[in-house]
Amino acid sequence: MNLILLGAPGAGKGTQAEVICEHLNIPAISTGNIIREALKNGTELGLKAKSFMDSGALVPDEVVIDIIKERLAKDDCKNGFILDGFPRTVPQAEALDAMGIQIDKVIDIEVADEKIMQRLSGRRVCQDCGASYHVDYKPSKAEGTCDKCGGKTVQRKDDHPDTIKDRLHVYHEQTEPLKDYYEKTGKLTIVEGQEEVADTSALTLKALEA
Ligand SMILES: [Zn+2]
Repeated sequence: MNLILLGAPGAGKGTQAEVICEHLNIPAISTGNIIREALKNGTELGLKAKSFMDSGALVPDEVVIDIIKERLAKDDCKNGFILDGFPRTVPQAEALDAMGIQIDKVIDIEVADEKIMQRLSGRRVCQDCGASYHVDYKPSKAEGTCDKCGGKTVQRKDDHPDTIKDRLHVYHEQTEPLKDYYEKTGKLTIVEGQEEVADTSALTLKALEA
């Protein structure tokens, strides 16, 4: 099964990608990871992407698309794949179609903005060991101190409320129109994100069978 996962930053898309990956035994392909992979392997496309990144520019769509094409042609994608973080815009979705990549299902993980705000802005990460906490859901025993290593826990720049607002804004402007795009093809299934990750996962697995 060829799948696309949609969802706002902080909606838990990555976790659901892992759940599906394990259930169907197909690879979860995130754009960030495959670009890093291409860089590491020094492929021609990887080097091309690097030239843009070195100059501080975004890697243009056509390069990202070529990297994805290359990745999807690998053996482990024979029985399907999960695309996580791509397409991010309608033109990217159109490019995917133009490539002749057949998509069977698009799962959109829906979480209200306020909820995402609460989830992300409460997140704290240990500076030393990377352990992750949440001020409401998973506080460290002593505030500001990591349970595991005693390091200082901090809020990542990405998790500052203003940054989250910006990221959500970009999502609503650029990525959310994809819901309409795939709704029209009858491929879209919406999964309502739940309080408990396990409950969301159960809904995701149900959506695969729908
Ligand atoms: Zn730590």
